[in-house]
Amino acid sequence: MNKAVFLDRDGTINSDEGHYYIYKKEDFIFNPGVIEGIKRLNEAGYLVIVVTNQGGVAKGEYTEKEVELLHEYMCSELAKAGARIDKIYYCPHHESVSKCKCRKPSPYMIEKAIEEFDIDKSISLLIGDGTRDIEAAEAAGIRGIKIPKNSDITPVIDAILN
Ligand SMILES: [Mg+2]
Ligand SMILES: [Zn+2]
Repeated sequence: MNKAVFLDRDGTINSDEGHYYIYKKEDFIFNPGVIEGIKRLNEAGYLVIVVTNQGGVAKGEYTEKEVELLHEYMCSELAKAGARIDKIYYCPHHESVSKCKCRKPSPYMIEKAIEEFDIDKSISLLIGDGTRDIEAAEAAGIRGIKIPKNSDITPVIDAILN
């Protein structure tokens, strides 16, 4: 079995300061400690998996193609520093348009990853800045660590790796 760290995206990996929806490269700014933190998790043998709600797609603010292009950009910036995300799951739905089974606080995306990557829940965890991230983690049976929005992730990574 594998161990994994799940990461929320907006507010956790990248800053969401000044933007409700982030879908442009120029608005995508990594939060402090994230690139190095992901690299350290990679080196410690953790799978790094992103689970993100992108309800702006359902609302017509941006397209799935734009989400995917932004994710390619994020991963290529990480690769430049030798860091890797193993998989990104995103929910393009929003309850104001139609209900779905994947949007956090649903554990669906996490459960899907657990199955796909044969993840041991007891040694895995999620880091997120929102209450619904933590609720999703707990509903999936893994520990959730809530961090302040757009904060330096380094202390959490240190705690995981020590
Ligand atoms: Mg967030
Ligand atoms: Zn969904």
